Amino acid sequence: MKQLTINTSNQSYPVYIGNNILEEAPDLLGSFLDDKSKALIISDTNVSELYGDKLKRILEPILPVSIITVPNGEHSKSMASYEKLLTACIEQGLDRQSVIFALGGGVIGDLAGFSAATYMRGIPFVQVPTTLLAHDSSVGGKTGINHPLGKNLIGAFHQPSAVLYDTGTLTTLPDEEWRSGFAEMIKHAYIQDPDFLHWLKENVKTIADIKTDKIRQFLKRSIAVKAEIVKEDEREAGIRAFLNFGHTLGHALEKTSGYDGQITHGEAVAAGMVFAMRLSNELGISAWNVSEEINWLKSLNYPVEAPSQYSAQKLINAMKKDKKASAGNIKFVLLKEPGRPLLYTIDEKLLIELLTNDQRG
Ligand code: NAD
Ligand code: MG
Repeated sequence: MKQLTINTSNQSYPVYIGNNILEEAPDLLGSFLDDKSKALIISDTNVSELYGDKLKRILEPILPVSIITVPNGEHSKSMASYEKLLTACIEQGLDRQSVIFALGGGVIGDLAGFSAATYMRGIPFVQVPTTLLAHDSSVGGKTGINHPLGKNLIGAFHQPSAVLYDTGTLTTLPDEEWRSGFAEMIKHAYIQDPDFLHWLKENVKTIADIKTDKIRQFLKRSIAVKAEIVKEDEREAGIRAFLNFGHTLGHALEKTSGYDGQITHGEAVAAGMVFAMRLSNELGISAWNVSEEINWLKSLNYPVEAPSQYSAQKLINAMKKDKKASAGNIKFVLLKEPGRPLLYTIDEKLLIELLTNDQRG
């Protein structure tokens, strides 16, 4: 088992990463559970079917446990699901000594985390991530839901009390979800850990290469990058923005395609990272040859350019509406070289030109 500690200004919490560690949850959580009155497991229908009863059975000798599920998918990060969950908290009689377990991917982590952040002005919660992407979402304390007018517009910072990452649950994860989550790992490597990046490039030639025992090592290293950034900038006033590498174009691609699953988050981020690297070259910020990077991402079947069915103007309009744009200015995280990111505000005309060129391949 691997372990890390996440430090924030007023709290620190452990992240445990191991195969079948759900069974050890009572030991790992130890005294944290001693004064807890009740547990509510929040999950989605897919994950609950696979692991809901198991987690319930494991916790039940310690405290009363109930489970509530929402349908799987981004659609559940909604006001309607949030209301349903808070109603369940009230009906189950949860109090400030109760604990919520978020069992699932990023959708459940964000939704259950936000419920925990706001129910009775905040109760503790434990993240139990079951997707690869959730290595990113389960650490750092950002929780929230979507509004019909935009993604993640409603939320709160609320750090979990612990993260239990049972990599055994990943065995049932579909391939496309592995690929989507792996893009965020690559992102962490690019922005802060060139040695990790080198190691990934040497060792991961296909997605099958990450589905090995090495996954726990990858997770630890990738979470360590996120942890370090969050420690420096818990509330996204500065360097936390670097985690947005690949996301300016990535979010625009997802938004323009209507979040209908045509492109996964990781694929959109991969195309966005390549574009940001090309942009870094074009603007004279970097001098490294990015073709090696492009070939590697291509070999993992990630898109390496913005699909040409969306006009550059449409993508730029989406970027301007992003909550990370300020006063309509579009910001990109660029790289001088791996491990040396910077935030750059770019002129719209130049961006149209570069994006159109990029789409021509
Ligand atoms: P997800 O939670 O929707 O999971 C993807 C799919 O995999 C779902 O259908 C789910 O039912 C299924 N699944 C989950 N675990 C499984 C398992 N072990 N076996 C089989 N199927 C399984 O999506 P995600 O990609 O994990 O997370 C995406 C969400 O995370 C987005 O809403 C995004 O905004 C959010 N996010 C948040 C942060 C943050 O810092 N809070 C960071 C990144 C992403
Ligand atoms: Mg992301």
